Amino acid sequence: MSEHYDVAIIGAGMSGLTAGIRAAHFGKKTIILEQHNAPGGLNSFYAKDGRKYDVGLHAMTNFVSPKERRAVFNKILRQLRINRADLDLIEQKSSRIAFPGTNLRFSNDEALLESEVEAAFPGQIDGFKRLSETIRDYPDSDLELPYRSTREWIKQFISDPFLEEMIFCPLMYYGSAVEDDMDVGQFVIMFRSIFHEGFSRPVEGIRLLIRVVLQRYRELGGIRKMKTGVKRLVAEGGRISRIILENGDEITADSVLSCAGYPETYGLVGDGVAPDESEFAGQLAFSETIAVYEDLPETWGWGDDTIVFFNNADRFEYRNPSDPVDLRSGVICLPSNFEFGDRPLKEGLVRVTCLANHDTWCGYSEEDYRAAKDEWFDRIQKSILPMMPEVTRDYSGGLVATDMFTPRTVKKFTRRARGAIYGSPKKIKDGRTEWDNLFLCGTDQGYLGIVGSMLSGVVVANQYVLKG
Ligand SMILES: Cc1cc2nc3c(=O)[nH]c(=O)nc-3n(C[C@H](O)[C@H](O)[C@H](O)COP(=O)(O)OP(=O)(O)OC[C@H]3O[C@@H](n4cnc5c(N)ncnc54)[C@H](O)[C@@H]3O)c2cc1C
Repeated sequence: MSEHYDVAIIGAGMSGLTAGIRAAHFGKKTIILEQHNAPGGLNSFYAKDGRKYDVGLHAMTNFVSPKERRAVFNKILRQLRINRADLDLIEQKSSRIAFPGTNLRFSNDEALLESEVEAAFPGQIDGFKRLSETIRDYPDSDLELPYRSTREWIKQFISDPFLEEMIFCPLMYYGSAVEDDMDVGQFVIMFRSIFHEGFSRPVEGIRLLIRVVLQRYRELGGIRKMKTGVKRLVAEGGRISRIILENGDEITADSVLSCAGYPETYGLVGDGVAPDESEFAGQLAFSETIAVYEDLPETWGWGDDTIVFFNNADRFEYRNPSDPVDLRSGVICLPSNFEFGDRPLKEGLVRVTCLANHDTWCGYSEEDYRAAKDEWFDRIQKSILPMMPEVTRDYSGGLVATDMFTPRTVKKFTRRARGAIYGSPKKIKDGRTEWDNLFLCGTDQGYLGIVGSMLSGVVVANQYVLKG
């Protein structure tokens, strides 16, 4: 006997949880199946040697005032019936795009970036303002258009290639699955979410967001099974007729939403192509170093930097590197440097994310892997020295703990093909698959990041579970 559900959701990441809330809220008998033992997917947390670490959170994008009722983030929370105050959000101080010889600062006040562009690129400011306004008025319906290259599109606004690269750097690092380019729709979404809106974080980190979302799902009677991977989706007559679990159980469902990714989900239906080998597997993977210090980075010179998007090379390249880690560019996140007010973190953290080569990291033996992690941890710490304010350059004391993840870690815990955080370069914007009752939701439906995946869960559940 197999149990029957109205909706079965593969994955307890942010998109799976928010889709689950929408379905359960409207009385659908809903189950979320998650292979890992912790919720959150790419956006999770863990404990090591008595310390708690966030995995996915540098910053939540799309920060707006609670009064802006039409803003995306506030709309998502209304759909989920989540009280924004429960997230205890605090804003970034300010962030920086750091290229050789030029810095552009930006904050949750979009006027800052405009004034920085005007000062550093006076000949480009009119074009930059036109770009910003075009993005503000960009029709929502055009966001769904098939892939178009932003490299071509942006030339009507920006003629200085150096400024073009500086604009691309944070938008690619926080949301592009495509090498050295972006889909125009994705570029518009990321520009709005980072430059027009801004960064925040729950004061307690990602576990607070996950706790609030999970509690909401539970209150609505949603069922969640952890350590319960989906092994296979059986297709019959153009539909998914059965869901075979890794523990040997079997269930059925009217609708199946998969947050596992595009090649990963097709791999479950069994077209004979392993997700890693699929032509649609993502190419972009990352490593991240985490250094915990006994005091806060702002006290040793980082000032108001919350996040620094850096590039040390003549040309910014956002592609799968030939080296294990590309040291030429990356993102430095200082999680203690948000507006904590009278609730500061007890320890300082410096997180550095760089592009990394999946095949190299996944090809190492266990012993070589550990040695490579040690080697690249040190090299990454040294590579960010030019970005550090003068006073910190010889700062070497106070380091109390370190950790590092690689594409191998991402793949192991989330099963993303090729460890690609932003998934496949081919996005399925309508979420449909060739099976009538199987829909993609989350990263490969085309909405990236924490807020993007929450939005995707809501949109796909509304469209195919509640209306369908
Ligand atoms: C290091 C890092 C830093 C990041 N920083 C930020 C940031 O600062 N801001 C931001 O907005 N975003 C950030 N992100 C990205 C953000 O975390 C993701 O875009 C978002 O969480 C994706 O959510 P999702 O629901 O689409 O997919 P996922 O989180 O990948 O969820 C999919 C789930 O499906 C499960 N699954 C897969 N296969 C199966 C199966 N066969 N059976 C059962 N379960 C399965 C997985 O275990 C996973 O839990 C970061 C990510 C990482 C890794």
